Amino acid sequence: MDDRDAIDSIDELHRRLEPCRLCVEAGIRVESMPVFSRLHRADAILVGQAPGAREAVDLRPFTGPAGRRLRAWLEPAGLGTEEAFYGRLYIAAVAKCFPGKRPRGGDVRPSPAMVRTCRPWLLRELALIDAPVVIAVGTLALAELAPGVALEHAVGAELRIDDGRPLVSLPHPSGANPWPHLPGNAPLLRRSIDLICRRLERRPR
Ligand code: SF4
Repeated sequence: MDDRDAIDSIDELHRRLEPCRLCVEAGIRVESMPVFSRLHRADAILVGQAPGAREAVDLRPFTGPAGRRLRAWLEPAGLGTEEAFYGRLYIAAVAKCFPGKRPRGGDVRPSPAMVRTCRPWLLRELALIDAPVVIAVGTLALAELAPGVALEHAVGAELRIDDGRPLVSLPHPSGANPWPHLPGNAPLLRRSIDLICRRLERRPR
């Protein structure tokens, strides 16, 4: 039992998450403070991998080039502007602190120990934010939300997370990720965007 499992309000979660240094205490490398959404309600919960170098400075998710690419993908769903993206989506991540840069470039992928240490935060966010659809961005988020499902079987399909809510998956929007450009994958990505459009249209306003 982790004492975070008992957090019963999003305000309390944000208050306790903001100074979190659990990874540091466990000897796991992190290079920023936690980056997380401050919303109390949202049209969807978007779960990414971890903040990058830019987000580590801004302390805001998806402020770098990957965020711009993600907003371009989500434009048909009305989420292309920063106002809509940050105002309508609760943006969570598998790991909430920047894991650092690799010596030869690119960001460190959060280690299993980091993911395990951060997991109770994500589980409480999912429990406390009553959004009708969850969006996984990248393979690490997909592994957390739908373990064992390959990206090519998840993108373009609607899965379910443990509590029954629909899960729509997207590839990681990093410019270094070749997946969106591989043969046959562009239509899958378009289908995921269509699914998000339909789910958001159904949201009562
Ligand atoms: S990655 Fe998660 S668990 Fe680790 S220090 Fe940051 S917020 Fe805490």
